[in-house]
Amino acid sequence: MSRIIQKFGGTSVGSAGSIRTVVDIIRESLDQQPVVIVSAMNGVTDQLIKAAKEATPCLNVPLTIDTIADRHYKEMDDLGIPRSLIKQELTELEGLLAFTDERIAVQGRSSAVQSLGERMSSKIVAAAAQELGVPAEAFNSYDLGLLTASVPSLLEADVLPSSYSAIARAFAGLDPGVVPVVTGYIARDGDGRVTLLGRGSSDYSATIFGSALGASKVQIWTDADGIMTADPRLVPGARSIGEISYDEAAQLAYYGAKVMHPKAIEPASKKGIPIQVLNTRNRSCPGTAIVRETQPNGPITSITYKRAPLAVRISSPEMVGAPDYKARIFGVFGRHNISIDMGPISNTGVSVTFDGTHGKDISAAIDDLKAFSHDVKLTEGMASVTLVGQGIKDTPGTTATAFESVSKAGINVAMVSQGLGERCLSLAIEGKYLPLAVQNLHKAFFE
Ligand code: ADP
Ligand code: ASP
Ligand code: MG
Repeated sequence: MSRIIQKFGGTSVGSAGSIRTVVDIIRESLDQQPVVIVSAMNGVTDQLIKAAKEATPCLNVPLTIDTIADRHYKEMDDLGIPRSLIKQELTELEGLLAFTDERIAVQGRSSAVQSLGERMSSKIVAAAAQELGVPAEAFNSYDLGLLTASVPSLLEADVLPSSYSAIARAFAGLDPGVVPVVTGYIARDGDGRVTLLGRGSSDYSATIFGSALGASKVQIWTDADGIMTADPRLVPGARSIGEISYDEAAQLAYYGAKVMHPKAIEPASKKGIPIQVLNTRNRSCPGTAIVRETQPNGPITSITYKRAPLAVRISSPEMVGAPDYKARIFGVFGRHNISIDMGPISNTGVSVTFDGTHGKDISAAIDDLKAFSHDVKLTEGMASVTLVGQGIKDTPGTTATAFESVSKAGINVAMVSQGLGERCLSLAIEGKYLPLAVQNLHKAFFE
């Protein structure tokens, strides 16, 4: 029988009440042999990142450790779980923040510190399940075969292809009557160093395990009614989408929709495993099914956005009639490991946007561009809004409707991007207009 994967995000495991709901959900699926993947309790990864950043060999850090311990103890006390359950992790945290092992470099310290969030939450969820009568055991993903390289960085490392068969082998040895509760987000490299799969990547861990085990489906349990027509935090009238294709979901994630990690679609789509996105707080809502093919019912399926992408315009008269000039420009971004979000190209200029979080790499790339290009202009404080839908390419007037709805609100579109036959249309605008632009576009296409 094929198993199901159930992934629970930070808010779903963030309080005693929601952990009880999680255990109810697991219990209801016991006949499908669930494998549970968990994130850290919400807010904990941010706290751990901050702690790792601020730690110095001569600074005392008990305050930070107390804050993190209390965050967990409060919910553990409520669930009747002994505090000693996470003693080992807290001692490890103390050691890492106090630099007792000086061989660990900065990045390695941060990944090791961050991994403790998922290592604690998996233990707590497994203990709560046991307490409530569901046999469960906590596992670190790397003890079940999930390994990565150490590149491009320990904080967002590439998964080793051999992990898939290693996971299948590891599961063959597990007791089928006990629910494994596995850490999302974290892994290890070949040297035993803790690595991470990137922020928000527990979704990706879930589909990796789903693919490795040939699961019948992967459920992503979160705090929204599935994938919606826009981020419900920005657009109160956003509606849940019943069905969406792998391709659309991947585009939405790539262009910023936090509900799904961009890498999470591929392991499932490769094997045709359906993904369901469901709301832990509204279990009667059917949520969203992500499947291979859907029938479009309109040009747009959903609207997404990214705050603060950086935009660069490179222009030079030398570009005209010099095909290798543009190749040199993209070569610079490639060498600096900068991935481009959108980028209209003309005869005399190339404009591109990329994620603002790349701050450091960008300045070196700009210097390299300036070495051969006349005019390189960096603009900060931008935002991109992307309309995603497989109907876009076949529906005349979609671009006109989009432009009209933002220009009516007095918002200037700084850049536009839509590839031939593509399922998305991106507009770059000034960041301060982002909520208004998304709301207006939602009105134009969905209300
Ligand atoms: P989890 O902790 O469960 O992984 P996340 O915070 O990572 O949850 O993702 C869920 C959040 O994604 C929602 O609360 C919502 O604000 C945001 N979101 C952004 N775009 C969308 C969308 N199109 N549909 C649903 N949620 C979205
Ligand atoms: N805890 C990790 C993060 O906050 C991973 C996740 O939530 O998916 O990024
Ligand atoms: Mg998430």
